[in-house]
Amino acid sequence: MGSINRDLITENARLKDCVCCSRCRVSYKNVLFVPCCHLLMCMRCSARFRVCPECNTNIEDRIIAILTPLIETIYSENARLKSELYCNQCKVQKTDALFFPCHHHLLCMSCAKNLNICIACKTKIDSVKQTIMP
Ligand SMILES: [Zn+2]
Ligand SMILES: [Zn+2]
Ligand SMILES: [Zn+2]
Ligand SMILES: [Zn+2]
Repeated sequence: MGSINRDLITENARLKDCVCCSRCRVSYKNVLFVPCCHLLMCMRCSARFRVCPECNTNIEDRIIAILTPLIETIYSENARLKSELYCNQCKVQKTDALFFPCHHHLLCMSCAKNLNICIACKTKIDSVKQTIMP
C-alpha cells in the first residue's frame, strides 16, 4: 500500500510537470496562444507575455481552454492528471484538440476527427484546432 502511494506520488509529480503551468507550477496550463497554439501557462503567468517564450511568435490572441474540475486525493489526482494529459477517449495519445466554439480540451486530434458534438457539453463543433503542449 505504502509503495503504491509512493509510485503514485512520483507519477503525479511527473504528470504535473506536463500539465501544470511552466512558470508557477501551481495552476494548470490553460491559456492557448494564438496563432502558434502553444499551451504553456496559466492565465496569470501568461498575462505579461507578448511573445510566446517557446517559439517567439507574437501573441495575437489567447484562448482559455476549459479543463475538468479539480479533485484532491492522490488517486483521483492521478486520474485527473491523466485525463488532462491524455485523450479521454483512446487514453493513449496526448490531448491536443481544442473545440470551437466551446473551448473544451479533452481529446486527441484523431479521436476528435469523427465528432460533430462536444462529448462534455454537447455543443456542436464548428472547428477543431490542434494545440501543442511541450
Ligand atoms: Zn502560472
Ligand atoms: Zn508558441
Ligand atoms: Zn484519442
Ligand atoms: Zn464543449
